[in-house]
Amino acid sequence: MSDVIVEPSAEVFRTRVMLVDDQTIVAEALRRMLADEEDIEYHYCGDPANAIKEAISFQPTVILQDLVMPDIDGLMLLKFFRSNPETVTVPIIVLSTKEDPKIKSQAFELGASDYLVKFPDQLEVIARIRAHSRSFLAQQQRDEAYEALREMQKELEVKNAELERLSSQDGLTGIANRRSFDEFISREWMRGARENQSLSLILIDIDHFKPYNDNYGHQGGDDCLRQVAKTLASAARRSGDLVARYGGEEFVVVMPGTDADGAAGIADTLRSKIEALNLPHEFSSTADHITISLGVATMVPTADKKAEDLIEAADQALYEAKESGRNRYHLAA
Ligand code: GH3
Ligand code: MG
Ligand code: MG
Repeated sequence: MSDVIVEPSAEVFRTRVMLVDDQTIVAEALRRMLADEEDIEYHYCGDPANAIKEAISFQPTVILQDLVMPDIDGLMLLKFFRSNPETVTVPIIVLSTKEDPKIKSQAFELGASDYLVKFPDQLEVIARIRAHSRSFLAQQQRDEAYEALREMQKELEVKNAELERLSSQDGLTGIANRRSFDEFISREWMRGARENQSLSLILIDIDHFKPYNDNYGHQGGDDCLRQVAKTLASAARRSGDLVARYGGEEFVVVMPGTDADGAAGIADTLRSKIEALNLPHEFSSTADHITISLGVATMVPTADKKAEDLIEAADQALYEAKESGRNRYHLAA
């Protein structure tokens, strides 16, 4: 085991003191006190009117500020420091000529970090300067780390969305995603045309899912989607079939080589299996549990038609199923 302790670089803990005081004698006294402290950089601002401007350019990690100056009220300057976004968090040690409880309490109320009567001994001045500066820098580092973390999280979300788009699985339900469906249907459409075989498609939409989400929460909605997906996937399991998530609360089943009768039979099985899940839905006007509506379409692919025509027909049938009362399937004409 090595005993090496990695110290943060000196630059990170550099103490930058700015003094605002009209009396050069005070400035000189502080300069002498700090002269031997190599990690402390010192800047003197003799004109309080320039204090904010000089603070912005010097970037102090701690400000020492006189309370009694000729042209400006020290408490007012304190307010200015606290209301400027560039100096709002920089610790301010106010310097007073006397111990005055009223002014002291006003100073703290306005955001002073410390109160010193000019001047305590060198040891104490330096200790307080270092302590305030260190806590300021530590806070700043924490803020920066959090900011970096937030940035990373944002990037990660973007990457995850991209990955999901590229992958074939739906991130929420684990079944095939829209992209898989798009590829599958166009392949099967061509195959059906080649082999002169019918292709059936069932579009499925959960009934009254918006009020479900609104009342049981998004998490509850997601859980419901997972259960519905799982049930659909296990019910339509003939090899060659594809069950996919089509969109938000919509699913799709593609059944190559299946005619309209067969597809209608599957549709009714799916409908009753979802009903049998008996997922409570107090806010549905169709039933007291989750139900689905299904649109079924079957075509024998030909050169003058496209897979989109089959999807469109199933969509129209789904609309009819919704219109005629939901919790049912409708067969495309
Ligand atoms: P209808 O019976 O006519 O289909 O009514 P509906 O409320 O189901 O239809 P609508 O299309 O108005 O609402 C669909 C809702 O599905 C909207 C949204 O709140 C929810 N939804 C869509 N995608 C997701 C998802 O990924 N997770 C969750 N939790 N909810 C989703
Ligand atoms: Mg919908
Ligand atoms: Mg719906």
